[in-house]
Amino acid sequence: MKMLNRRSLLGTGLVAAALPVALAATASAHAAGPSGGCALCELNGSFFGRNRGSAKGRNVRIATSSGDAETDRFLGSALQRLSATFQVSPGFAFFDDGEVENAYAARETLLGNGPGTVLMGMTLFRRLMTEVKDGGVTVIAVCAHEFGHIYQYGGYYRLLDQVDSQTNRPHELHADFLAGYYLGLRKAEHRQLDLRKVGYELYRMGDTNFTSRQHHGTPDERFAALSAGFKLGLQGKADITAAAKAGFELIRRNS
Ligand SMILES: [Zn+2]
Repeated sequence: MKMLNRRSLLGTGLVAAALPVALAATASAHAAGPSGGCALCELNGSFFGRNRGSAKGRNVRIATSSGDAETDRFLGSALQRLSATFQVSPGFAFFDDGEVENAYAARETLLGNGPGTVLMGMTLFRRLMTEVKDGGVTVIAVCAHEFGHIYQYGGYYRLLDQVDSQTNRPHELHADFLAGYYLGLRKAEHRQLDLRKVGYELYRMGDTNFTSRQHHGTPDERFAALSAGFKLGLQGKADITAAAKAGFELIRRNS
């Protein structure tokens, strides 16, 4: 493990202030870079975007602040709610995703209590916050998808592997279902929430490379999973255990 120093953080263009949320409360961030090698390619995690190799071959820098105090407060509050709903407490940090937008759910605890870490790419984050005028709903949807993967690591990941051992499609659709479920639960608080718009922003990164291990599902499949989860969340009756089970059964039925 390599300690991330202030110079590295500043090199990302981010301010090294702590994100004011229990999830990310840590005095220093660590980057996983064994032997000075690359960080994220060593992680056994799930990836939001299709280009899993984007972080390969280089050190990946992480930071605990967006650089904007108001944004950090918004995100900190959202992360606490996500943690309560998903009943997991991963660390959260930004990382430099360069030109390839991405977010990750790592099994490794890079900071905070864990287990696991959600890593949000700064390029993805900045675009969603500045270009998508939805009050941060799409950012929350991405975070919810990653929290879904963290939840899967508690047991569903292996079950989803049994549905399709050749691709990550079941894992991705299940995380999409859980993201939709979370948005459904929060619909009343997000008046700007337009599920179709969220789906468009999320799944323009979806892929059609069916034989790839990284295959996430087609954009239509992903939106269908998101919508099904959303309907369940809107009812407000299912907790995360029931939602994860419902999502799993849906994906197994459709595979
Ligand atoms: Zn994913």
